[in-house]
Amino acid sequence: MSRVYNFSAGPSCLPEEVLQECAAEMLDYQGSGQSVMEMSHRSKVYKPIIEHAEAQVRKLMKVPDNYKVLFLQGGGSTQFAMVAQNLAIKTGKAAYIQTGVWAKKAAAEAKHLGVAVDIIASSEDKNYSYIPKVEKISGDYDYAYICFNNTIMGTHYEYIPDTGNIPLVADISSCVLSEELDVSKFGLLFAGAQKNLAPAGVTLVIIREDLITDSPRAGTPTMSIYKTHADNGSMYNTPPCYTIYVLGKVLDWIERKGGVEAIHALNVAKADLLYNYLDSSPAYRATAEKGSRSLMNVPFLTKEDDPDKAKAINDKFVKEAAAAGLVNLAGHRLVGGMRASIYNAMPIEGVKALIAFMEKFAKENLQ
Ligand SMILES: *Cc1c(COP(=O)(O)O)cnc(C)c1O
Repeated sequence: MSRVYNFSAGPSCLPEEVLQECAAEMLDYQGSGQSVMEMSHRSKVYKPIIEHAEAQVRKLMKVPDNYKVLFLQGGGSTQFAMVAQNLAIKTGKAAYIQTGVWAKKAAAEAKHLGVAVDIIASSEDKNYSYIPKVEKISGDYDYAYICFNNTIMGTHYEYIPDTGNIPLVADISSCVLSEELDVSKFGLLFAGAQKNLAPAGVTLVIIREDLITDSPRAGTPTMSIYKTHADNGSMYNTPPCYTIYVLGKVLDWIERKGGVEAIHALNVAKADLLYNYLDSSPAYRATAEKGSRSLMNVPFLTKEDDPDKAKAINDKFVKEAAAAGLVNLAGHRLVGGMRASIYNAMPIEGVKALIAFMEKFAKENLQ
């Protein structure tokens, strides 16, 4: 068997140890004679699995007691609507910082649901290559919204806006558990699992209890009301059982690695290697500005300026990299070039192998 280094932005690589544990338990989970895939979510054997996943989220993220941890479905994209439906209920106004595709989609969804959306800052002027500085947000907003790590543009907040009494909502889909985060600074955090937590299928939501309402915006379906899930331990309906099981194992793996602080140090080491190479190489350049760079998603271009030639070079890069066991490096069409997603589960050896390949490719093609 040979495994590749997978730089996919999502779904993305999982720790090999976790995959091995899942494989070992596939047919018979701890003497139950069943796979976790086959179990009733209400069975005695499944209950400790979801409880363990929640306990690990609480422990590793130091979630305060006045927050609920929910395991929902519908991905990050469903949260774009649920946030608006459940939070925009007093003034019906919300502030959004537009830092890329996902923040823009979230704002558009809120607007679609009748929320009065203010785009209070945007980095669209420079193709979202930086995070605008908005240290303070005030006004009669029901909530303020940010996308903390911008998966496509490769940018990340280096500060948390001060919103006073306005609940701050953050999409942390692509940076959850990659760094320590003070949950108490936020009203609501959410993350689709398929970037840094588990396979696709579960969305982690962490919500402050006072924001859980039983009177959301008119017409909100039962399944889209946080209270429905909070009151039922994320088991109002069938949860994504298997994905939650894998999520618990990924969190155990993070703990074995020394916890979030240790994972963060490793992520900094990996990202530093790659950015330092990009910043010093005459052949490539990173697209995200210094001071706004993501530790998780690193888009980069070659220094070929002619668009037709650049496209041919990028295609060749992606193809030859894949042949060398470095896969899913094609950039997003909005940025072009290449993108290396180096989530928690990407070992530093993968980053070193990528840099070695880039160096070789540059010598052969970019001089
Ligand atoms: C991938 C992603 C999403 C969309 O998630 P889905 O689960 O596909 O709906 C939203 N926000 C961010 C930051 C993402 O990276």
